[in-house]
Amino acid sequence: MKYSSNQLQNSIPFSLYCTDKKLYDKSTSGGAFIAIALNFIKNGGYVCGVISDNEVKHTVTNNVDEVLKMQGSKYVQSDMSGIYKTISKLIDNGQKVLFTGMGCQAAALNSYFKTNKNKENLFIIDLICGGVPSRLLSQIFLQNERQYTKIEGFRNKNQYVLSCYDTNGKLIYLKGQRVLPLYGFYSGLTMRYSCGDCRFCGIERMSDLTIGDYWGDNNGLHKSVAVAHTEKGIKILKCLNDVEINYIDWSFIKCNPRFVVGKSYNNHKIQRLLLPWLFHNLSYKSLCGFYGCNLQNPLWLLLHIYNHSMVKIQELYIKHQTKSILNSITKNNSQPYL
Ligand SMILES: Cc1cc2nc3c(=O)[nH]c(=O)nc-3n(C[C@H](O)[C@H](O)[C@H](O)COP(=O)(O)OP(=O)(O)OC[C@H]3O[C@@H](n4cnc5c(N)ncnc54)[C@H](O)[C@@H]3O)c2cc1C
Repeated sequence: MKYSSNQLQNSIPFSLYCTDKKLYDKSTSGGAFIAIALNFIKNGGYVCGVISDNEVKHTVTNNVDEVLKMQGSKYVQSDMSGIYKTISKLIDNGQKVLFTGMGCQAAALNSYFKTNKNKENLFIIDLICGGVPSRLLSQIFLQNERQYTKIEGFRNKNQYVLSCYDTNGKLIYLKGQRVLPLYGFYSGLTMRYSCGDCRFCGIERMSDLTIGDYWGDNNGLHKSVAVAHTEKGIKILKCLNDVEINYIDWSFIKCNPRFVVGKSYNNHKIQRLLLPWLFHNLSYKSLCGFYGCNLQNPLWLLLHIYNHSMVKIQELYIKHQTKSILNSITKNNSQPYL
């Protein structure tokens, strides 16, 4: 069943990056989020996004320091407890709130506030997504790696790096296949089961704006893509400071097919199918091998080859799907550049 009737006929794609170097460097792609969020706060609004404190959770604030903590992708399903209530109170009091989150979270929010008379005060941004891992990974990692107390981040601008605080409060950076929270995400083998059946990460977006990575002509910069779906989305982008923003054509989708086909295709893989059982019954060391595909073990090697072949077949399928979606968007999209 389709989520909405949006076929992107009224949507407009842009590429952008934040010209404030400090903000840009801390962002995952071009800093679209932080440029938008800081501008929103400057105009008296509140921002709702994800921070990684003792747990990865959504929070609502109009404090700049708190918003800076929202920068960076956290590869864990965030906890949204209490968020609807907080947003509800704010928008009923006439405050403007900018929500940012995954497509599924934006969909849930949309559904909750569908009939709210103050919905005009709510602005929704969803992220391009290829699936979100279960929280189990970070939990098991911290339970077994006792020298670390807290996960601070999951990547820097160019690569996946897990940054964790050790027991002395020092920030340590970890890379490589044996780092479970990283490789579990990167391999796609630990995505939530529902990500394999997701209706909220295709073209039928109901947010005001969708943001993600822009892999087009970027002159050595890491830019963001921002697709405005509504007047509110355009409004958010029009009044930004400290950004270089350009209209782009829909061909960007060829380099980032997840904007239209974000669903995870990993549910049939052995590691994913057996995940609940394995997490209960295998040792931490074996889990790192099983999900990190440590090539020293012949079993892991066989699985690795199988998974790799499946990925190649999926890529062909996604390429085909993307091509036909791109054709239909360019045929139906009559939106003139502003
Ligand atoms: C799990 C995950 C998977 C992603 N997969 C892709 C992908 O396949 N292709 C692609 O183009 N882009 C993907 N993105 C988005 C991408 O990583 C950047 O967030 C995006 O390009 C915007 O970058 P930025 O520089 O503006 O902001 P950043 O500073 O990186 O963005 C921070 C924003 O991300 C939100 N956020 C961080 N972690 C989470 C979380 N766990 N749940 C909900 N919201 C979160 C924050 O609230 C904030 O709004 C993914 C993001 C996440 C969290």
